[in-house]
Amino acid sequence: MPSNAIERIKHAWADHGRHFGQYQFVYPVISRRAGGISLGINLNPDLVCNFDCPYCQVERNAGAEPMPAFTTEGLRTELDHAIGHWIANKFTDSPRFEGISPEQLDLKDICMSGDGEPTLEPGFPEVCALLRELQDALPDLNLKLTLITNATLLHQEKVQAGLKILTSLRGEIWGKLDAGTEDWFRTMSRSRYKLDHIESNLCQTVQKFPLRIQTMLCTVNGAPPSHAELEAWANRISHIYQANPANLLEVQLYSIIRRTSTSEVGPVPPEFLEDVAAWLRAKIPVPVGAY
Ligand code: SF4
Repeated sequence: MPSNAIERIKHAWADHGRHFGQYQFVYPVISRRAGGISLGINLNPDLVCNFDCPYCQVERNAGAEPMPAFTTEGLRTELDHAIGHWIANKFTDSPRFEGISPEQLDLKDICMSGDGEPTLEPGFPEVCALLRELQDALPDLNLKLTLITNATLLHQEKVQAGLKILTSLRGEIWGKLDAGTEDWFRTMSRSRYKLDHIESNLCQTVQKFPLRIQTMLCTVNGAPPSHAELEAWANRISHIYQANPANLLEVQLYSIIRRTSTSEVGPVPPEFLEDVAAWLRAKIPVPVGAY
């Protein structure tokens, strides 16, 4: 455990492990973007995802222990327990948060993320309803609800029904857009999906719901995205912005800070993120954050 306060908080930011105590579906983390504790919900303990991003931190190797299937009832039990734990002592008795000051342990949001794409879970709308119930039961906390998604399934009726519930009070969708060209998208997602489909889903989503775009900028075999790639990506952001400027809350740029499943990707320097952020701000009047 690092000895000074800044190193301790950096250590906690980097620790987004999905396993906390006895829980199977709930994991509190310190989130720079949320500005406190984000209570993560893992709807994919089976590690299933429809992307295979080279920067993913999930190890999907054959030797992994089989995990229990996700159930909404199991999630409800764990959430009740975790919220009770936070109310009792803000998790200050947990090694993960050892030495972090209590002001940095305020509970800010509940975030569907985890070991795969959350919207693959058939009970996605029921989970959204459960999180809304919890938000209503804890009005003093002003909790936000967040879905982190790769945007592949946002067009589905079942997913749309869930998004409507999720965003009815301080709810947001954080959708992944890692590329501008189909070539770079194939490299970054290693999936069968087309980037045009992702853009179309994000355009439809922003028309109805608050959206933040998340973009991973990293090197692949030592090379960062080219200027032509970034131009194509900015064009896609512009289309999403034009679909509903009021609902596009932010574009978030980030790079690799944790262990990745493959070694061909690497972080870009912070200055690269800052330069791209400034360049995008000059093109499109949308808040851009480099994290
Ligand atoms: S979409 Fe997320 S969980 Fe799925 S492979 Fe990519 S980074 Fe991993």
